Amino acid sequence: MDFLFIDFLNSEWRDGIHDDSYIDRLDDTKWMNELLTPWELTINEGMTEEKIKRLKTLRALLRKLVIDVTHNQQLTDNDVNQLNDYLYCSLFLQEIRNESGNLRLTEKPVNPDWNWVMAKIVESFAHLLSNHQIGRLKICKNEKCGWVFFDVSKNRSRVWCYHSNCGNLMNVRKHRERKQKK
Ligand SMILES: [Zn+2]
Repeated sequence: MDFLFIDFLNSEWRDGIHDDSYIDRLDDTKWMNELLTPWELTINEGMTEEKIKRLKTLRALLRKLVIDVTHNQQLTDNDVNQLNDYLYCSLFLQEIRNESGNLRLTEKPVNPDWNWVMAKIVESFAHLLSNHQIGRLKICKNEKCGWVFFDVSKNRSRVWCYHSNCGNLMNVRKHRERKQKK
């Protein structure tokens, strides 16, 4: 299951395995466009320093809240108010679209700008919060990694971002440590 806010949070990329490499993909306009396309978010304004700053502020807020939630802490009224401030910045119209004979009820922003994108990011987080699947929201157990993911495993047992890197690395390390202790 995909969530826009998770993709957005993972714009902070950390190697977490070989070294402390860090890439902030919010600085990469091409990456941002690639983020928006699958979510059908076509915007009418370009990226500016100020917009990147605002996106980073939102990302910091969401990461803090995701950390809280994954530690079973409830959101405070202040947290909720801050999220609502982003939602209030964008107005929507409802529209019926005729797609080759199939009618689809869709939402259309009054102004498809970065405020709209930020509202959609917050909306996806709010959807997850309000549909009780919150226990599936996780941060990779490799602290140096920090990758956020939605655990779709049957028993909600997944702890690593991808088994092929962080999980393997940690297992190899544990194995080595155990060997050394012997
Ligand atoms: Zn990881």
